[in-house]
Amino acid sequence: MNYQVLLFYKYIAIEDPEEFVSSHLEFCKSIGLKGRIWVAKEGINGTVSGTIEQTTEYMNHMKQDERFQDMVYKIEESDTHAFKKMKVRLKKEIVNLSLEDDVNPNELTGKHLTPKEFYEALQQEDVVILDARNTYEYDLGHFKGAIRPDIENFRDLPEWVRENLDQFKDKKVLTYCTGGIRCEKFSGFLLKEGLQNVSQLQGGIISYGYDPEVKGDLWDGKCYVFDERTSVQVNRAGTEKVVGKCYHCGNPEERYVKCGNPECNKHLLMCEPCEHEHKRACSTDCRDQERNRYVTEKTAAQS
Ligand SMILES: [Zn+2]
Ligand SMILES: [Zn+2]
Repeated sequence: MNYQVLLFYKYIAIEDPEEFVSSHLEFCKSIGLKGRIWVAKEGINGTVSGTIEQTTEYMNHMKQDERFQDMVYKIEESDTHAFKKMKVRLKKEIVNLSLEDDVNPNELTGKHLTPKEFYEALQQEDVVILDARNTYEYDLGHFKGAIRPDIENFRDLPEWVRENLDQFKDKKVLTYCTGGIRCEKFSGFLLKEGLQNVSQLQGGIISYGYDPEVKGDLWDGKCYVFDERTSVQVNRAGTEKVVGKCYHCGNPEERYVKCGNPECNKHLLMCEPCEHEHKRACSTDCRDQERNRYVTEKTAAQS
């Protein structure tokens, strides 16, 4: 446990994001950090890993910059790096929601609830719990009773909401995501769409799992993360139950694979026997695709 994984974001104007990207990448590399950081005019969003010294140095460095002085870090312990490389990339948005009429979370966003407040709100009547993540993330784990938006990509969420808006009207809406960043804009979007009562989980699922009082209670399954770990524990209250199911046979499963067809690449929960039987594919088309990775890996291993 000599390593740490840091999750962080901040919506703040970055005047010259291009320049920031190159100097930031250089700095991160110089201290031996690994991970991925998205930078845009609207702010920064990152997950990085390193030794305790490296990650501490990163946080100290950022604190010296006025813009990031109050940036909040979710810190998780780890045995190793959670990434292979260090990437800092220039993006249009730090989380891609592609709204035609963009929302600035510093001006419009849902009410922030602490994990304790969120935990209490979850148990109230007349609340709608809205998962602001993708279906494959939901399927591995989610809050009890949460709605599963049927989307493959976060940027499709606004359209899904517009089609389902009637379900949420007059209700108290609670949104949540992994680290809190997706909800910043998404909850603002919901308010703009005319919903009155919108709250978001501050610090996201990760902070909720580490909260000493709540301990991740009311969460089922694991939390999908976008690094080499793939998933992390949330519920430390002893009330966890597995909700993931193998895509093919339906048995309880928390193991992720990507569809063997590189052009499909769908995230699938799949047990090992089914991976072999279906050549890691989601369909017969993907199974029989010439470039199926399961097949090419087997062939490479044999030669
Ligand atoms: Zn199976
Ligand atoms: Zn497929």
